[in-house]
Amino acid sequence: MRVIKRIKWPGWVVLVLFFILISGAIHHFTSMKTEAYVEVNESLHQAGAKEKTEPDGNEEIIQEEAENEERTADRVKANGLDSKKEEPVVQEEIPDVPIAFDPSGKYIALTFDDGPHPNVTPQVLQTLREQNVKATFFMLGSQVEKYPDMAKQVADNGHEIGNHTYSHLNARKRTMVEVAEEIRTTSEMIELATGVKPMLFRPPYGNYTSEVLEYAEQNGYSTVLWSVDSQDWKSKNAGAINNMVTQHAATGSIVLMHDIHAATAEALPQLIEKLQMEGYQFITISELLLMEKTIHNGPYFGKGI
Ligand SMILES: [Zn+2]
Repeated sequence: MRVIKRIKWPGWVVLVLFFILISGAIHHFTSMKTEAYVEVNESLHQAGAKEKTEPDGNEEIIQEEAENEERTADRVKANGLDSKKEEPVVQEEIPDVPIAFDPSGKYIALTFDDGPHPNVTPQVLQTLREQNVKATFFMLGSQVEKYPDMAKQVADNGHEIGNHTYSHLNARKRTMVEVAEEIRTTSEMIELATGVKPMLFRPPYGNYTSEVLEYAEQNGYSTVLWSVDSQDWKSKNAGAINNMVTQHAATGSIVLMHDIHAATAEALPQLIEKLQMEGYQFITISELLLMEKTIHNGPYFGKGI
């Protein structure tokens, strides 16, 4: 609350919204079938809204679309998603477990959206490398198209890459055809640049529709939001970013950051150190999903403010 006052955001209410949908189950052409479904009810008022400012030419789109994001949480709730809650069907073989999860361990997943960025992403990568931390990057197709080598560096450093659409579109303001096309082309670009097909999808602003979720599921993506918003897009201040994350972090948290802001890169070394001192281990989103399935200690959806 102190932070919020400091950044003068009256009326700020943070609920945490997080929704994960795993499918991929029925792939005719792959041997691995996966289906899991995790969902959260806590929502993020506003956070999903103005998720950020975009690098380069995307600012206008972002700002234009950021206007009516506050209703995101309500829309999500109205989406009838709760009705699916009972169907976490696990009908597959769990792939190789990357790490042995400690049921009482503290795990957290750092995520970086809207990159890759030619200046910030390398700094983020360097910090992650130095501190031996793996994270997840939700990339824009437009950025991957401009900086394919940077996307490859992210993958080569062992981080996970997810799809964040091509132009940072607002799925609630576009047709399903447009959304599907952006997801498809972005995955193609990521795969072309990195050699890895993304299996995670994060809708910009946290905005989606049931059709978008269905499309993602049918195409093998897990749709992933977040539970802790660093608000780096708003504060652009390393100290504020660190406070926001450390105050709200909990086991299983998914932390939203953006590798397009210098302050985010600046905040990262100290943030990681602090979380490590608190006993956190850093894992990727896929690992977090796997953890939920293996030790039933799934993503934590936030403790609110
Ligand atoms: Zn974004």
